[in-house]
Amino acid sequence: MIWMNHKSCCAGVLFLFGAVLNAGQHAKAQTNPPQIKLSVHWEELTGPDFVEAIKRAQGTCLLPFGIMEKHGPHMPLGTDLINVRYAALHAAENQYAVVFPEYYFGQISEARHEPGTVAYSRDLQLALLQATTDEMARNGCKKILIVNGHGGNDSLVPYFAQSQLDKPHDYVVYFFKERTPASGGPKKKTTVDAHAGESETSKMMVVRPDVLHQGRAASESGADQNRQHLPEGVYTGIWWYSRFPDHYAGDGSVATRELGEYQMNWWVDAVSKVIAAIKATT
Ligand SMILES: [Zn+2]
Repeated sequence: MIWMNHKSCCAGVLFLFGAVLNAGQHAKAQTNPPQIKLSVHWEELTGPDFVEAIKRAQGTCLLPFGIMEKHGPHMPLGTDLINVRYAALHAAENQYAVVFPEYYFGQISEARHEPGTVAYSRDLQLALLQATTDEMARNGCKKILIVNGHGGNDSLVPYFAQSQLDKPHDYVVYFFKERTPASGGPKKKTTVDAHAGESETSKMMVVRPDVLHQGRAASESGADQNRQHLPEGVYTGIWWYSRFPDHYAGDGSVATRELGEYQMNWWVDAVSKVIAAIKATT
């Protein structure tokens, strides 16, 4: 009998009724244990709670990947980090996962001429990313989803993920690169819409309007300067500088909160679906 295992069992027959009631609650608690609220932020968990968090996440952890670089005249240097962390943290609330602390050690050599850029060497970027995912895995993250917030990482991370096959690992690296829906939502006013442009500025209106200075967005031009004339299919590292030397591609002055909400909801939802799919893989 269940109640015999309960502490109240030794209180005797007089307390039988109460004991059965307690046992009933106990049995219910065993079948449906109350889940304690666990933060999705790695750095906010206690050591013992971290163990529980990894279990609840089924070993799935997120590494939102940002950068420090100029974003037009109106957006903070950490725009990509701020936006990607918002998307990753909200997605992890939907589909529980543990989110690694702030990480912005990516590829940004092309912005070294701009104030505030932090550009690590290629060797250090790869070594640090490897050490970080190795340490995450040692702590139980066997499925690591790198959520990208910065276009300059679009080649770095797939190379990193693919080259994990160079030797056996006890964890898997996934990469989700998309940040903006291909279509849908409020109609956009601009055709060139990339770095610090309409979409990115709109997202920041939702995420951290207090660090956005939209009134300054028209003080520089984010037009494509079209200075690279090469056949299609030819890649060269200076392409970005040749087209957008001021680290501004588009026009943030036309951004709206409505567009930002649509796009950020899409991003959170997309990452949530990726987490669910990763959890389901074996
Ligand atoms: Zn950006």
